[in-house]
Amino acid sequence: MESGRALLMIADIGGYTEYMRTHRMSLAHAEVNTARLLKKVIDAAPGFDLIEIEGDAAFLSRRADTLDGDATVAATTQAAVAMHRAFHIERQHVATNLCPCDGCVQANNLKLKFVAHVGDVATQTIKRRRKLVGIDVIFVHRLLKNPVEVPEYVLFSEELYRAGDGARPEHAHEVSQELEGIGPVRSYFVEVEDLADSSPPLPDPSWPGRLGRTLAVAGSGLPYMLGVRRRRRTASAG
Ligand SMILES: [Zn+2]
Repeated sequence: MESGRALLMIADIGGYTEYMRTHRMSLAHAEVNTARLLKKVIDAAPGFDLIEIEGDAAFLSRRADTLDGDATVAATTQAAVAMHRAFHIERQHVATNLCPCDGCVQANNLKLKFVAHVGDVATQTIKRRRKLVGIDVIFVHRLLKNPVEVPEYVLFSEELYRAGDGARPEHAHEVSQELEGIGPVRSYFVEVEDLADSSPPLPDPSWPGRLGRTLAVAGSGLPYMLGVRRRRRTASAG
């Protein structure tokens, strides 16, 4: 087992829970759409390793041994901005495909939020799958249950936030919360919108692109319609 300091980040898609109990086709497309969105999100953070897909969330990690505090905070905000942008470009593609089902139409209501922490982790490799263990891994997951009310944000643990004096985002808000099994902690959130101010506007999706994506999603839904594949996931949190 190998251990070291790591920057831990979870990108979590929210917004589908409301209608996950609709009919089969919608659910199939909701799953396809979530998977596509997550893939784009993960691809947008090439500096991070994907540790695991956890329902509608991606758990990412990056070694932080060689990063100073400012670089660790900067890596977090840069990754969040890039992933958020990739998410919204793809979300627009999904929502403007021509499929009228809830899973596609309501994709427009999906949001992306992040929690981030820096800490010590041990790496276990089991059957060529890398797994991170340690209290800090638990900690970053517990941060997902927080009282932040804005839809899209990056929540920094106090340790991460305090590490990066020179790279802290403006407009951060302090949050106090009780983490299950850990106790009272302070953390800081910033709205992604405030981080992403300088990004150029999203491009308009073209018609051939819309048609192509409609066919892609329709094809993905087909096995579900035929009942070949069973529903694997019930409503998930977020
Ligand atoms: Zn659809």
